[in-house]
Amino acid sequence: MNNQALLEPATPPATEERILILAPRGRDASLIAGTLAEDRIAAAICPDAAALVGHLEEGAAGAIVAEEALTQQGVNDIAHFLASQPPWSDLPFVVLTSSGRANPATEKKAQELAVLGNITFLERPARPDTVRTSMRAALRARLRQYEMRRRQETLTRVNADLEQFAWSASHDLQEPIRNVAIYSDMLSMRYGGVLDDSGIEFLSNVKAAALRMQTLVSDLLSYTQAASITEEAPEPGEAEAALLAALANLTAAINRSGASITYDPLPAVRVREVHLQQIFQNLIGNAIKYRRDEALRIHVSVEQKDGYWLFSVKDNGIGIAQEYQEQIFGLFKRLHTHRKFPGTGIGLAICQRIAERYRGRIWVESELGKGSVFFFTVPA
Ligand code: ADP
Repeated sequence: MNNQALLEPATPPATEERILILAPRGRDASLIAGTLAEDRIAAAICPDAAALVGHLEEGAAGAIVAEEALTQQGVNDIAHFLASQPPWSDLPFVVLTSSGRANPATEKKAQELAVLGNITFLERPARPDTVRTSMRAALRARLRQYEMRRRQETLTRVNADLEQFAWSASHDLQEPIRNVAIYSDMLSMRYGGVLDDSGIEFLSNVKAAALRMQTLVSDLLSYTQAASITEEAPEPGEAEAALLAALANLTAAINRSGASITYDPLPAVRVREVHLQQIFQNLIGNAIKYRRDEALRIHVSVEQKDGYWLFSVKDNGIGIAQEYQEQIFGLFKRLHTHRKFPGTGIGLAICQRIAERYRGRIWVESELGKGSVFFFTVPA
């Protein structure tokens, strides 16, 4: 799809711009329809609540209903339908009430109707222009909701296109980068003897750049793959298995740094092991990388909150100044040069993406020069 097509406003189908009328007496219903017709508002008359729900399923901008036409069962059926609607939808209802002072019975009815959400009460006898104005307002509100839906759909589509682009680009870049690394190795093996010092240095720079690009591209691939996590909650899996797998992958770095790593007893969580492992590996890998010149201690703990697990990974490393504690989770955001601390600035963005896909959060509390605690939540 080209950009122009993405930007063109989509016209909602005609059914989505009509008002549904539910009035017990045929004459009332046709009077309202006639009143709306004067304003060129399309309307459909429904004989009962079941028919109203049927019409709602085909699409509508709103409904005008006479209070007495709604039995408790009818209200339940409509509420059931409304509950299945997407978040952008907030269907306006205008309810025609009987005239007179409010009494316990009318108040009870009003309470029952409140489940319909977006309702306006109109006391009868209502003047035709009052009916028209309230329906015009309902229609305008609904058209704004359709606009919101259109924007959301466009955003979702553009996002999916971008994801696909990032994935294909990083995937397809892998092979040429691998070739640069391989051929620079072959060059130095076969022709290393005829190169002078500068030549050897240039070649080693080529190799180092290719390896760095390889890491960048593979991190980007992990980042795009983290987007494909489905919404469904997986069966609970042992968090300890994920942590141990992360530690196994970090063995060399752990040994080199002499880090002492401890952890609380860990629960079973509804997160795929590979994703939890990625979070642990990035956080513990960072704790090792951003250490100070003193014995490194890392501790993983967990506690249960209402309906989720709160994990934390604590280190006594270099810490992060207050003003950077949010931005470090952004893609490519780094606080140091590659020379000082190698990295791509993608690790925390991956952690954030995974946590958010599981409806969790990730953040850091830290003091510069003292250490950091990274927190993240996942469903219990
Ligand atoms: P990378 O480590 O590849 O740069 P990350 O996205 O993992 O990328 O981290 C982003 C930045 O956050 C790092 O460059 C570093 O400045 C900071 N950071 C992350 N973890 C820590 C930590 N445990 N202690 C201090 N700084 C950290």
